[in-house]
Parts: sequence; C-alpha cells; structure tokens
Amino acid sequence: MRPQAQIFLGPPGAGKGTQAREVSKHFSIPQISTGDMLREAVRNQTPLGLVAKAKMEAGELVPDEIVCGIVEERISEPDCRRGFILDGFPRTLAQAEFVDRMLQAKGKGAPLVLDIKVDGDLLLKRLTGRRTCSVCGEIYNIYLNPPKADGVCDKDGGKLGQRPDDEEQAIRQRLLAYETQTRPLIDYYQRKGLLREVDGSRGPEAIAKELIDFLEKA
Ligand code: ADP
Repeated sequence: MRPQAQIFLGPPGAGKGTQAREVSKHFSIPQISTGDMLREAVRNQTPLGLVAKAKMEAGELVPDEIVCGIVEERISEPDCRRGFILDGFPRTLAQAEFVDRMLQAKGKGAPLVLDIKVDGDLLLKRLTGRRTCSVCGEIYNIYLNPPKADGVCDKDGGKLGQRPDDEEQAIRQRLLAYETQTRPLIDYYQRKGLLREVDGSRGPEAIAKELIDFLEKA
C-alpha cells in the first residue's frame, strides 16, 4: 500500500510545491503546504501571521512550535484520513521528530520522503527569476519561462510581482537555512530507509510523471 504520509523535501526553488500539487490532484489527497498556510495567516493578519511575517520576509524559518501546531491541526481534518502530502514540512530535525510522533499516535505507517534535488546555480535562477501574476497566481520565470510581454500575465494581463522572500538577501538566507537546518533531514531519513531521490532539474511534467509512476507502484 502507498505510504499515507508523503513528505516533499528539497531546497527552496526545487519545485516541491509544483510537484506536490500534481501528486495531490492525481491521488485526490490534500497537499499541506506550510508555506501557503503561513502566507495565508500573514494575509489575514492573524496573531500567528504577525509572528510569521517578519521571519518569512527575512528568509528565516518560522519557530517550530508554530509550524508544528498548524500542521497538527490540519492533519486532524477528515480529508486527511486517506493520506496527505507534506510540502515544505518538516524542515528541521525537531519538526521531523514531531512528524514521527504524530504519525505513530495516529496509527499511520512510516512516511515516504521524496528528496527533489536541484543544483545551486539553477536554484538561484529559479528563485531570483520567479514572478507571479497578482490576479490568477500563474507563475513565470524571467529567465526560464518568461511572459510574452515584460511584467504582464499572458492569461489575464495581470501585473506580475515578486514574492517578498524572493528578494536577493532573503533568498541567500533561505538557502542558508536550508543548508544548516533542513539538509540534515536527508541523512535522518536515509538512515531509516525512507528516502527516494528525484532529479528536480528537469521540466515539471517529466518530474511529475516519474513521481506518479513511482507512487502508483509503491
Ligand atoms: P520555499 O520552499 O521556496 O522557501 P515555502 O513557501 O515552502 O517556500 O516557504 C516560505 C517560507 O515560509 C520559509 O522561508 C519559512 O520562513 C516559512 N516556512 C515554510 N515552511 C516552514 C517550516 N516547515 N518551518 C519553518 N518555517 C517554514
């Protein structure tokens, strides 16, 4: 049986969110993205969002207690009963240990961890070049997948903008946070025999196909 908890690991810009969305659609299981949930809390100016905002804009990680709390709450919802994808969580060893305890308490088996690998130069291009439509959310990249007209969405003419944490200084900090706090998780899951590496330098369709084929057989 396919593992109920699937964890998408990988540095910022690896394409975790894009791939998690495809897998989520294919298997009809929810995609739980801590980045998206935190951005929503920031938009809604909740107390939690106020704490998260400064950290996120600086490219630093949001404290473990906050992130673990929102994940635990989300996973308790009924649509997670058949399984779920964790996108961008866990990102620290403390979060990984929290996931272990949570899965055990809920009687779910060990997670499957998909580590999406992309080298440093390509990551920088993806992150610094990323632009998002302010109307429909479509994502472009000025180097790799530019819109037809500068700064404007092909679909609806919406203005394209940059995520505040895609500014250069924040990107440097996010990559540093990944190296120091998240990369050790590769070893953590490898030792448990739960890790599968995926080449994330290819186009999104090729990666999604490989992931879905693999998960169909898992
Ligand atoms: P990316 O993977 O490209 O950095 P995300 O949308 O996953 O983008 O995350 C954006 C920001 O949200 C992170 O830089 C961090 O501040 C915060 N965040 C997301 N997930 C976590 C997490 N599991 N633990 C701590 N902070 C997180």
